[in-house]
Amino acid sequence: MTSNIIDGRAIAAELRGKVKDAVSKLESQPRLAVVLVGEDPASQVYVRSKIKFTQECGMQSVERRLPATATQEEIVETVRALNNDDSVDGILVQLPLPEGINSDAVIEQIDPSKDVDGLTETSAGRLMLGKSGLRPCTPTGCVVLAKSALGDLSGKHCVVLGRSILVGKPAALLFLEQNCTVTIAHSKTDNLPNVCRSADILIPAVGRPEMVKGDWVKAGACVIDVGINRVPHPNKPEKTRLVGDVAYNEAASVAGAITPVPGGVGPMTIACLLRNTVLAACARRGWKTPE
Ligand code: NDP
Repeated sequence: MTSNIIDGRAIAAELRGKVKDAVSKLESQPRLAVVLVGEDPASQVYVRSKIKFTQECGMQSVERRLPATATQEEIVETVRALNNDDSVDGILVQLPLPEGINSDAVIEQIDPSKDVDGLTETSAGRLMLGKSGLRPCTPTGCVVLAKSALGDLSGKHCVVLGRSILVGKPAALLFLEQNCTVTIAHSKTDNLPNVCRSADILIPAVGRPEMVKGDWVKAGACVIDVGINRVPHPNKPEKTRLVGDVAYNEAASVAGAITPVPGGVGPMTIACLLRNTVLAACARRGWKTPE
């Protein structure tokens, strides 16, 4: 079967275009605040691209940088100050925070109306209860990608591989919201290949390079690979490369649709963050949410 590659970069660019269009119709520019603690190189790259895309969409960005030595209290104070700043619509704390910092306690300080990453207990609870709210960005991106390949997801069997708070659990709830029949698999699941093979939509979010083999994928299934793993380059010992949780070439020859890594889920995460910032600004300011 010829595999259909889902172009996450193109779909993310389209979504950013919609966000930009929506922003141009608002009374004023939404503002996203990003809190970055420490010097982690990957986090710095993520924050730079979040700020770049925020500005490209016509929104304002504020960056709050703290040193790696910042205390829990200093980080919490920074978040509280952003909560109290009425000009700020969205707050994102870049994870991971340095060792010794209680990330959950920091995230919990974010005003839920500004929780554009959808990670506070209030946002998670509202998702669980089926109430409107800001949804986590990566799982939302997975749903958008699956719909781009399959259209209506109703009745499809979706297997989410992974049960983290950040990805697996919210992804399962979001696919349930789309009327999928959802299975959540994890490290204690028996006969994982068989469970995966039963999926119409397979969402590996494990963090294990190329764990999902071609014969774990049902012919014609839609595979949305969330994993981002840095591994040694096969031919250049001094270099590394990024791979997903799926053995891409094997799986691509079986799947009906599949996301590459990089260029699949990654770009969608930022696009969904930008959309959440618009949604947060509209809800906070009583503006009608643009289409
Ligand atoms: P976590 O480490 O928090 O969770 C991993 C999950 O995978 C756990 O539920 C764990 O099960 C399960 N798991 C681990 N090993 C196995 C195994 N051998 N068999 C079955 N299940 C297993 O990771 P995250 O959810 O935060 O991230 C997952 C991946 O997604 C990572 O590669 C991360 O880099 C990537 N990611 C990508 C994003 C993007 O924008 N594209 C954003 C966020 C994450 P158990 O609970 O039983 O331990």
